[in-house]
Amino acid sequence: MQLENYEGILSGEKKAKFLEAKNYRLDFEEDFTLEELWQIHGEAVENLKCGKFQEKGKSCLLDLKREIAWKMLASCEFCERRCRADRKAGKRGVCGVLGTRIASEFLHFGEEPMLVPSHTVFFAGCTFKCVFCQNWDISQYPENGVYLSPEKMAAIVRARHTVSLNVNWVGGDPTPNLPFILDVLHNLDISLPQIWNSNMYMSTETMNLLDGIVDLYLADFKYGNNDCAENLSGVKNYMEIVLRNHKLANQQCDLLIRHLVMPGHVDCCSLPMLDLISRELENKNLMLNIMDQYRPEYKAHEIPGMDRRITNREYQTVLKHAKSLGFSCVP
Ligand code: SF4
Repeated sequence: MQLENYEGILSGEKKAKFLEAKNYRLDFEEDFTLEELWQIHGEAVENLKCGKFQEKGKSCLLDLKREIAWKMLASCEFCERRCRADRKAGKRGVCGVLGTRIASEFLHFGEEPMLVPSHTVFFAGCTFKCVFCQNWDISQYPENGVYLSPEKMAAIVRARHTVSLNVNWVGGDPTPNLPFILDVLHNLDISLPQIWNSNMYMSTETMNLLDGIVDLYLADFKYGNNDCAENLSGVKNYMEIVLRNHKLANQQCDLLIRHLVMPGHVDCCSLPMLDLISRELENKNLMLNIMDQYRPEYKAHEIPGMDRRITNREYQTVLKHAKSLGFSCVP
């Protein structure tokens, strides 16, 4: 079984992690500093990992995570851009997201076979500026959606869960919307796997808050070097940050890595990335999806070499290399 945690929740043998975070009781006060809250959080997460439950307390671990996330909003560092924008006071960071805007939500039948039907929630806004983005009309326009209250969103999740296998938080990127997502979970009591579908450029603080909440990371690993990441997505230190987060995700729960093969980027990105994750990640509870659907969207026509689809030879080279390294690939 490759996605042991995810499949365990579907079969009813396990519970969605966020429910455990709701059952773990603890105490904190609203006027505690972030440092004090992180201290309590660290102890609680470690206890949970060792199977130690705490049954007494006015509050719970999920509420502590919400408290930290909402406090962080006053100096936003949810992703490694670390803008420190006071989003509570209406200041925008690089992603441009203030309050949450939902661009769409629906039952998605086009995701990996083991995930469908997937209740996919698309947030407007993104922490990346990919020149080839296929969802650029929502990722680069953070106001391009509607506000739903967390209570309303939870009601929609409940209504869809008789059919959906999971909730799939995506965008754009879910990262700037972490407080909202935690509030939705506060209003939810069904054991439905939570999928974090992301570019994986989260800060370590965000990774800590997601620990014990996310059941499966659906994680992009787009590049094999920092220059391509900076040129095509406008981000710095891509390799160090995204590798670190893949390692953390690999320790926390299941990990399904998506890699979109890009034209002319097999030797500089696809193959070195595969070699790297083969060396650095545990091949346990891990799957790979090598994707061939690159289309020259958005500003891709302005970038030499990015204005075409990939060839079959490019795709087969990457797929063959992934299999030769022993990865389990989505068919
Ligand atoms: S989530 Fe947005 S505002 Fe916050 S650090 Fe990242 S880019 Fe900046």
